[in-house]
Amino acid sequence: MIYNLLKRYLVVLGILVVPMAQAQELQNIISQIEEEAIKNSELENLAHNLLDVIGPRLTGTPQMEQASDWVMETYKKWGIDAKREQWGEWKGWERGITHIDMVAPRVQSLEGIQLAWSPTTPPEGVVGEVVALPYVKDSIHFQKWLKGVKGKFVLTSMYQLTGRPDDSWEKFARPESFERLKASRDSIKREWYANIRRTGYKSADIVRLLENAGAVGIISCYWSKGFGVNRIFYSKTKGIPTLDVELEDYTMLYRLAERGEKPQVRVVARSKDLGLVPAFNTIGMIKGSEKPEEYVILSAHLDSWDGATGATDNGTGTVLMMEVMRILKKVYPNPKRTILVGHWGSEEQGLNGSRAFVEDHPEIVEYVQVVLNQDNGTGRITEISGAGFLNSYEYLSRWLSAVPEDVSKHVKTIFPGLPSSSGSDNASFVAAGVPAFYLGALNWNYRDYTWHTNRDTYDKIVFDDLRNNVVLTAVLAYMASEDPETASREKIVMPIDPKTGEQQFWPEQKSPKRLGGVD
Ligand SMILES: [Zn+2]
Repeated sequence: MIYNLLKRYLVVLGILVVPMAQAQELQNIISQIEEEAIKNSELENLAHNLLDVIGPRLTGTPQMEQASDWVMETYKKWGIDAKREQWGEWKGWERGITHIDMVAPRVQSLEGIQLAWSPTTPPEGVVGEVVALPYVKDSIHFQKWLKGVKGKFVLTSMYQLTGRPDDSWEKFARPESFERLKASRDSIKREWYANIRRTGYKSADIVRLLENAGAVGIISCYWSKGFGVNRIFYSKTKGIPTLDVELEDYTMLYRLAERGEKPQVRVVARSKDLGLVPAFNTIGMIKGSEKPEEYVILSAHLDSWDGATGATDNGTGTVLMMEVMRILKKVYPNPKRTILVGHWGSEEQGLNGSRAFVEDHPEIVEYVQVVLNQDNGTGRITEISGAGFLNSYEYLSRWLSAVPEDVSKHVKTIFPGLPSSSGSDNASFVAAGVPAFYLGALNWNYRDYTWHTNRDTYDKIVFDDLRNNVVLTAVLAYMASEDPETASREKIVMPIDPKTGEQQFWPEQKSPKRLGGVD
């Protein structure tokens, strides 16, 4: 009887005392996270090594492998376990020098770059006249024109009337000038697509036809609508180079060609075809001490497109998650749950690395507490959606309430939100029913200036905002790891699409593409 009373007394005492000690411990760790993130930040060093020394990380390139080696070495230096997990194979390719010069009617070096996986030129390069796709009456007319394309470079993108972004026009132009520009632009666009239809082919087929007809190279221009910015994706040619030339130079070549000045370029675009190479994820881990079989997953893809160094897509997400791991290992070395970081491969070709991880690791996926994914640039995190998990407001709000106010005040939450079916790696987990959240960053001109462009470089990083994200992500991961409760996976009842009136469904889990770049 006395014993029972004592036990009850202790329990009552325990309820009062233990949480207070716990609350103090919690506060203590959060202060250490903040201090480490602000005072001992490694972000600049990490970004320099990843972006300046290693550079772009296109899937299938030696640089992607080098980045993975560097991530693993860095983790090991910090005492964190790390490994590479191969999940497929990809076309191996190494970018060499691209050098494009106009050699007639005058000499000018042009700004441009070969697209990813582009076939090489000989070492001495190729010289040829530049012609634009003609405006044709019909497919017979087009076929006739094709016969004359041998030995020529062909401009395959639509002409742009201005290299100024619309906000520049809005700010400075007379309203009637801007209206005139928009009207001319619309009519050029309509005529461009009507002309393509008249050839009897689709745009994608035209590149193949030009190559078969003996063109020596394709010159395109994928303007992103910002000053001096182009998006750089991949080549569809088999044996001739595909180059993206910047709007300023592209439109000059176009005008010269259209007015009969017969411009010529010399192109050196060197690359190596490396056959098939492994496609992989790079995984780091701090083993849990109480519930090692449960996981808090930090997520950011390691691969990039290679028009620049992929600083904001997704260098910033990569160094963010590495820095969070470093700090957690230092101030919280024995987490309750296992903290796993996924530096995925081939996100850019369709979330392949994270989809492979979800498919290959049912034993992990079943016991994931939460996935925190970051992948839209350098800005401070301002938006977290509940991604369609009915009770996410309860645990996310609770974890967020532990984040220092200075950081959490920027974050808007959307509950319950909707599951995303694509976009970034969180979608691979959401499709498997795992609470996976996208840490949405302030855009800092991401869409027009850095996303998949030739301007996605170190100088665009806003380190102050990134440090803010380190504190936020580290505290969320810590809170998720410590939580006595398992995060609920209950889903919302999917709503009717207000636009179409149709019932929406939870996104389906998709298999990754495990053999890439070979068609
Ligand atoms: Zn990305």
